[in-house]
Amino acid sequence: MSAQQEHVKCLIIGSGPAGFTAAIYASRANLKPVLYTGAQAGGQLMETTDVENYPGYPDAVTGPKMMEDFQNQATRMGCDIRYGTITSVDFSSNGEGPHSVVIDERETVSADTIIISTGASAKWLGLESEIRLRDIGGGVSACAVCDGFFYKGKTVCVIGAGDTASEEALYLANLCPTVHMFVRRDEMRASQVMRERVKSKENIIIHWNTEVEEVLGDQEVVGARVFNNQTGEKTDIELQGFFVAIGHKPNTDIFKDYLDLDSEGYIVTQADSSRTNVEGVFASGDAQDKIYRQAVTAAGTGCMAALDAERWLSHKEFIAAQEAAKNNNTGSMAVDSILDAIKTKAAQSDALGKTIKFNFGEEQIFIDGTGESNTVSVADTEADCTVGVDLEDFKSLMKGDLNPMMAFMSGKLKIDGDMGVAMKLQSLFA
Ligand SMILES: Cc1cc2nc3c(=O)[nH]c(=O)nc-3n(C[C@H](O)[C@H](O)[C@H](O)COP(=O)(O)OP(=O)(O)OC[C@H]3O[C@@H](n4cnc5c(N)ncnc54)[C@H](O)[C@@H]3O)c2cc1C
Repeated sequence: MSAQQEHVKCLIIGSGPAGFTAAIYASRANLKPVLYTGAQAGGQLMETTDVENYPGYPDAVTGPKMMEDFQNQATRMGCDIRYGTITSVDFSSNGEGPHSVVIDERETVSADTIIISTGASAKWLGLESEIRLRDIGGGVSACAVCDGFFYKGKTVCVIGAGDTASEEALYLANLCPTVHMFVRRDEMRASQVMRERVKSKENIIIHWNTEVEEVLGDQEVVGARVFNNQTGEKTDIELQGFFVAIGHKPNTDIFKDYLDLDSEGYIVTQADSSRTNVEGVFASGDAQDKIYRQAVTAAGTGCMAALDAERWLSHKEFIAAQEAAKNNNTGSMAVDSILDAIKTKAAQSDALGKTIKFNFGEEQIFIDGTGESNTVSVADTEADCTVGVDLEDFKSLMKGDLNPMMAFMSGKLKIDGDMGVAMKLQSLFA
């Protein structure tokens, strides 16, 4: 690392719902995150008009307005939002040292934790008429769950023959009287069960060996000109909604040398977590989700990634503190490092505003009401609440290996003083 190279605690890649939500949570956890927007600041929702299914917007909201709200909230929480694209990464330290990323092939920034929220892009047929009508919001979509509702009672089509296309067709078939499905071959790629479900749905009409030549309509879709690729016969079919379901491509190429990706390029995360196979690197949103692909699920996993990053850092700082304690008999360095670890936790806790004393056996740590101006080794200082816990048990609590309530019941965790503060202190360990 060069002397001038910038180092940050938490670096977020991507500015869609996942990235901005991670930014909000990471800022509130005092990780001082830096977020790079990428080429599409605001993410996929910048391409859409009305979003009707994001909670909290009862009258619907346009995609760009919603993403402006996300960005404003992240900024207000203190996230440093920068325009720039990550062009390469080096995760070879595997969390033993900082990770590093290159921005726009020029500047390198290192980070203790990385949150990947680079999203995915829908694949399109590439027809001029398709792209034109998509760009003016004229009835071309790649998401039935997002846009299907606008076509209730209308005739639509789905392009594709895989599981996703089948899901989209079945979803639309519950809203629309007729769903045409254009399948390029004489069989579907979808799983057996999905094929059967599609075939048995009365209002789905499957057109085999059929490809689209043109989407018809000036300002909005009025039909599709299709041709049979065996006979060459052309047909114009009337419809109002044109749904393309030929797959998505996750924006994960730059990570492929380090991260486990599945066969389609989605980042593999550990169960019930945003953790990747690399320590300190977390993934959220559509870059790791090929099933739900919604703004609200992306935001949810962005939240998970920030919480996972914060816990990972707390744990790492605590381990560093233990190492320091082993190597320094003075003990004061251990206190400083432990303090760093719990400061991150305490910044989130309502218990701040009160004075808390931590007794780690011989060591004592005093946190004043602000959580920022902490002092150490003030054994005689009055505190609203005193926490007594063995260092090993504290480590287990921070890792989540030891349940706070069990620790409390068994006497491993002693909290004396103001019970109101004591209750709030539980959130330091939860
Ligand atoms: C037209 C359309 C309409 C939709 N409508 C709805 C809807 O109504 N409701 C709904 O819930 N969902 C909807 N969706 C789906 C929704 O947009 C996505 O599920 C959601 O945006 C995923 O969020 P994300 O944060 O994971 O990724 P994205 O929104 O895809 O954002 C990815 C971000 O990563 C950035 N990025 C990529 N690579 C890099 C890099 N190398 N360096 C830095 N940054 C990078 C991009 O610039 C972008 O900011 C719609 C999608 C589309 C395309």
